[in-house]
Amino acid sequence: MSAVQSAFEEHERWMREVLRAAQEAGTRDEVPIGSCVVVAGKLVAIAGNRTRTDCNPTAHAEIVALRAAARKIGNYRLADAVVYSSIEPCAMCAGALIQARVPLLVYGATDEKAGAVESHFQVCSSDQLNHRVEVIKGVLEPECRELMQKFFQGRRSQIRGQKSEVGGRTSSSGEC
Ligand SMILES: [Zn+2]
Repeated sequence: MSAVQSAFEEHERWMREVLRAAQEAGTRDEVPIGSCVVVAGKLVAIAGNRTRTDCNPTAHAEIVALRAAARKIGNYRLADAVVYSSIEPCAMCAGALIQARVPLLVYGATDEKAGAVESHFQVCSSDQLNHRVEVIKGVLEPECRELMQKFFQGRRSQIRGQKSEVGGRTSSSGEC
């Protein structure tokens, strides 16, 4: 097996773990995004979105995983880590990867609306920042995208159902 192929299989393996964390987040009515931090082939931290669960706007999967990994390693710099995310990270999370000096980000599906790696801002490759993150995208992309699509389809039909009720509230209010 070539080195490139074995690296790719390794990325798929961790992305499957990330998908499980994303699914678990979905069961808590969170947007189903997962993330994990791997150092030297070992899992250091894994998380799904927790914004509603923790009533915390910064509790995106990547942030939760980065915090847990830094605590576990005992260093706020994660200079040997690979961070996996099911979806292209947002501006906040891409910024956190820079702060943590993460050398490699691997993500599944592109987020055309809020992604800040490729879709907007290009935070991980900006000349104006003091660190660059290498990026591999598209790992288990169909599975990552499908999970999000199913979640939002479900939420849209839920909102339609609620709107048909007199005085029904939508679930997009952000209330925890
Ligand atoms: Zn984020």
